[in-house]
Amino acid sequence: MTDHPATPPTSEAGLPFSKLPLSPAMLACLQQLGYQTMTPIQAASLPVALSGRDLIAQAKTGSGKTAAFGLALLNRLNPQDFAVQAMVLCPTRELADQVTQEIRRLARFQENIKVLPLCGGSAMRNQITSLENGVHIVVGTPGRIMDHMERGSIKLDALNTLVLDEADRMLDMGFHDDIAYVAKRCPKERQTLLFSATYPEGIAQLARQFLRQPEEVKLLEQHAESKIRQRFYEVEKEQRLPAVVSLLKHYRPVSTLAFCNTKQQCRDLVNTLRHAGIHALTLNGDLEQRERDQVLIQFANRSCSVLVATDVAARGLDIADLEAVINVDVTPDPEIHIHRIGRTGRGDQDGWALSLCSPGDRRRVATIAQAMNCQLEIHDLATLDNSDDSPLVPPMVTLQILGGRKDKIRPGDILGALTGEAGFTREQVGKITVTDQSSYVAIARACGRDAVRKLGAGKVKGKTVKVRILTD
Ligand code: ADP
Ligand code: MG
Repeated sequence: MTDHPATPPTSEAGLPFSKLPLSPAMLACLQQLGYQTMTPIQAASLPVALSGRDLIAQAKTGSGKTAAFGLALLNRLNPQDFAVQAMVLCPTRELADQVTQEIRRLARFQENIKVLPLCGGSAMRNQITSLENGVHIVVGTPGRIMDHMERGSIKLDALNTLVLDEADRMLDMGFHDDIAYVAKRCPKERQTLLFSATYPEGIAQLARQFLRQPEEVKLLEQHAESKIRQRFYEVEKEQRLPAVVSLLKHYRPVSTLAFCNTKQQCRDLVNTLRHAGIHALTLNGDLEQRERDQVLIQFANRSCSVLVATDVAARGLDIADLEAVINVDVTPDPEIHIHRIGRTGRGDQDGWALSLCSPGDRRRVATIAQAMNCQLEIHDLATLDNSDDSPLVPPMVTLQILGGRKDKIRPGDILGALTGEAGFTREQVGKITVTDQSSYVAIARACGRDAVRKLGAGKVKGKTVKVRILTD
């Protein structure tokens, strides 16, 4: 996984860095790098970061977040003290390498500032030697940094800045507990900066745990309603459930959240979808916690096409990229409607908000249009193209590994087992979730059986494990 900054931020309209309390040497360095003015996220977050306050900053990929924290931690750095003064946690080795390079560029204004990447896949011994020789800034993945902490090869007494970069991605990859381990062992008196491209509920939770009265900076201009394409389709009440099938076959979204107003309707819709060969699961209050976890895991890692839920069941759902939200019923409350459809079209993705309404719902649709201050068109279901009758198949399948946190299994162990001896590529492996008793990993659907066989025959963290494909 790499982080491609698609287009460098356009910053013509931004303010000059000289507005900030930065040293002349640093300003000259920025000039040299061709950074004429601040990008919007830099303009919004640097004054806070430089003031020493904790910060949550949200802006899309490629918006210049690295310099936003890089300048803050460099500004505070004492180059004479060869001790780790700042630590940046990143989700992957590639991202850690990119951040290391950017910080090194920004550090050129000063002689001899040591920035060290600490990721898996490089020899531990070399990293330990570098740490012994003195390092100012470490940038790494939570797992490897944890390893160094456990061995005592990294000292954090002088640490004054902790950065969680791409925090949403780190949570996606199952790093919550590793982040917690590291953060709890950092000095209490420190500044914590959290950067993220999206803002799912998990981020708020993380911030409550490890940040102190953070200032929040969000640049949402890219997430505006225009990213959500909204369409209403008129259909007689009794035709709603088959109409959902038609919508799915026409739009063919990878992940869809379908809202029903009642539990009974949820059950009926799941049955209708399954009859049509669509992989659907439902969330309802009758599920045990473990079952609920499994449903959410399968949906979030793209091995289930449609999640059917009521508003209550979907509360607090932490799912980032949804291609579509389908409202099987129009809600009478426009606030709820807006909240429902806000779950699609996040980040860089466009999203569809598709709603079914019966002729009797026109008033509700009008209320929503008024609340959203826009014109809502009502389309005819007959305009949908259902000629592509190939089944809608989720790209991934979930493997359940019997063994989890209690067995000291970490996401990296599973990724290692799959990409090591088992011979799968990083691209074939999806989201990894480790719970107390079990671990779950998404793998490209075509590799599912092969992966069960190879993982079952091999070892995870030196132990043989039981593996199965999770169905429902
Ligand atoms: P993000 O972390 O938000 O995805 P990056 O920090 O990787 O974004 O920055 C994206 C690109 O923009 C990088 O190539 C970086 O060098 C460049 N960049 C950052 N700040 C500025 C600036 N103020 N002016 C011009 N280019 C910048
Ligand atoms: Mg970044």
